[in-house]
Amino acid sequence: MKPPVNITITGAAGNIGYALIFRIATGEMLGEDQPLILRLLEVPAAMKALSGVAMELDDCAFPLLHDVILTDDSADGFRDTDYAMLVGSKPRTRGMERKDLITENAHIFSAQGKAINEHAARDVHVMVVGNPANTNALIAASNAPDINPANFTAMTRLDHNRAKAQIAIKTNNLVADVTRMTIWGNHSATQYPDISHCLVDGTPATELVSKDWVIDHFTPVIQQRGAAILEARGASSAASAADAALDHMRSWILGTDEGDWVSMGVLSDGSYDTEPGLIYSFPVTCKDKTYKIVQDLEIDDYSKQKMRLTEQELMQERDIIADLLQS
Ligand code: NDP
Repeated sequence: MKPPVNITITGAAGNIGYALIFRIATGEMLGEDQPLILRLLEVPAAMKALSGVAMELDDCAFPLLHDVILTDDSADGFRDTDYAMLVGSKPRTRGMERKDLITENAHIFSAQGKAINEHAARDVHVMVVGNPANTNALIAASNAPDINPANFTAMTRLDHNRAKAQIAIKTNNLVADVTRMTIWGNHSATQYPDISHCLVDGTPATELVSKDWVIDHFTPVIQQRGAAILEARGASSAASAADAALDHMRSWILGTDEGDWVSMGVLSDGSYDTEPGLIYSFPVTCKDKTYKIVQDLEIDDYSKQKMRLTEQELMQERDIIADLLQS
């Protein structure tokens, strides 16, 4: 058996946390030969609920689960951690402006970046789920100067998975036959789900669906899927978000399939003329716990315009929290 790894989950008593933790403990994320220690971090008010989650973890008697640490102290939460999944964030309340939401979360993620810098393993892999995910990841990375900023990522995998599913449904194929989907930019309504390079059982998706359908149906469905689920369930998507978080980490750590790629919010190196230093969603391949941005894809004028729009939103978000970024 391998030695156990530490996995930190923040907001662990929340809805996504509840849908995520048990699946991680079964080995679905890192493999059934990888023992783990769960470090569950919450705010003080949620510690009682978290103790209930821990009782259920005990009751599952997961063979891979070596220990569970419950804490509201970020030093304990991130101590020696190998994988950090930052799920908890402050939700938008009635009447709150987006700018205020960004600022409030910026304080949480700058403190967590500092704690990661001080306490986590030096090659910690961090993913951010809590919104605004891209900008929260940027703040955390900037406040962790001793950790490689490439190790901070934001989740756009749910958008990626949603886009694959819509193409599979429309073309009457299996989702497993849909490859090379791309989500560009921000995990927000400006994201650009791009099927230009997508294949369905080897055939270009653009030959199977019309441009009108993509513009009038596909794109708005992906961009507004979260709101549609909220309207239907009366609660935010949680199981699908947890599933995507699991997918994101598994692809990053265990690698992507040959010939395919996934979408991840990662540090822009200027690829595709994007602003360097933003956390922008790109198509990536992963191997040996490292991602690489897929290069040299042909980008038409329509895509360029959409990619620019979502980039501009990320630049505006960065400007709002500029005082919390370390130079
Ligand atoms: P959820 O578990 O439902 O959601 C957590 C975060 O994930 C939210 O920011 C949410 O954004 C985001 N998210 C990203 N993608 C999705 C998606 N597709 N669908 C739904 N959410 C998505 O929130 P809860 O309120 O149930 O739980 C949050 C927990 O975090 C609470 O237990 C709270 O105590 C904790 N918390 C912990 C902190 C810490 O550890 N320091 C700080 C703040 C909170 P959106 O709101 O936009 O849906």
